[in-house]
Amino acid sequence: AFNRAPPPIRALHQDVVNKIAAGEIIVSPWNALKELIENAVDAGATTLEILVKDGGLKLLQISDNGHGINKADLPLLCQRHTTSKIKEFEDLTSIGTYGFRGEALASISHIAHLTVTTKTRESSCAWKAYYTNENLTPIKPGQTADPKATAGKQGTQITVEDLFYNVPTRRRAFRSSSEEYAKILDIIGKYSVHCKGVAFCCKKYGEAGTSLNVQSHLSMVDRIRTVFNSAVANDLIPFEVANDRWGFRADGLISSANYSAKKSTFLLFINHRSVESTAIRKGIEGVYTQFLPKGAKPFVYLSLDIDPARVDVNVHPTKREVGFLNEDEIIEIIKDEIATRLGAVDTSRTFMTQS
Ligand code: ADP
Ligand code: MG
Repeated sequence: AFNRAPPPIRALHQDVVNKIAAGEIIVSPWNALKELIENAVDAGATTLEILVKDGGLKLLQISDNGHGINKADLPLLCQRHTTSKIKEFEDLTSIGTYGFRGEALASISHIAHLTVTTKTRESSCAWKAYYTNENLTPIKPGQTADPKATAGKQGTQITVEDLFYNVPTRRRAFRSSSEEYAKILDIIGKYSVHCKGVAFCCKKYGEAGTSLNVQSHLSMVDRIRTVFNSAVANDLIPFEVANDRWGFRADGLISSANYSAKKSTFLLFINHRSVESTAIRKGIEGVYTQFLPKGAKPFVYLSLDIDPARVDVNVHPTKREVGFLNEDEIIEIIKDEIATRLGAVDTSRTFMTQS
């Protein structure tokens, strides 16, 4: 093999580049939906309605009542790196919105059939645009045919059909649509708890009832009651801690030592984005082992706001993980606070039983 002439290096066709990039950003139906939820919340929506067919592979539709999109912006919507949220790289250090790279919709349009219907407050009608990856003249890949006028109320409806239709290996990786639907409900449930003032509802296509329905006026505790159950909602302790030196503020609701589950539930938001952090999870679970019987697990909802200048949201294409400075110090302070709160409740119980 070593005496073979090297194969020539060639530039990949743009279509292949786009598909590869899209597959790194949109890895599953639930993570496509997460991007769409974040876009709707960024647009100031207070009502999100979600419709799902076949675990999101056949259909993912999200309708919001946010500010909508200007007709003039529709041709740009699914171009890569088009966004209304940042202008300079430095803007990433003060980012207040969920999105920032302008890649989610572009990615989805490369690996699904995407239709956008939107109406701003100023527009007299709604506009509907269709985006495709195929070279259908006169539509070029990533572009839209002229938007069509249609009836509609203010806000945006994004319809994603046949996700991964042109990425067969990825599509085949999703064996069970009920498993995918469970993951979709999981991510909607997380945002339903976190996004106070926003109503969420999710329906399975063809079914009359809703799988999840959270009204906008509900308190945090009632959001947890609706999404999870009353047992946990009745046993929550609020906590809050801030620290100027490490530039962060954390608050949330955590289960008391009287509550235990077989599996732990972790809702972690960093700067209002649902993320995973093994370090934070392990640290907090460690605190609970001092308070719970062996094998018993807690419920933790933690919203962490860190000075955007200290966070690197750009470490992972799916934005699933974020890096931040002084992680160890911040986790220690949160652990101490949780231990204090759990201990305080414990003491009052003991006191009550003694008296
Ligand atoms: P990003 O969120 O990183 O800017 P996206 O590809 O997710 O990139 O979205 C591109 C742009 O489309 C956004 O910057 C926003 O202007 C617009 N947009 C997307 N979804 C909505 C929505 N639901 N309502 C209003 N505008 C939207
Ligand atoms: Mg976005």
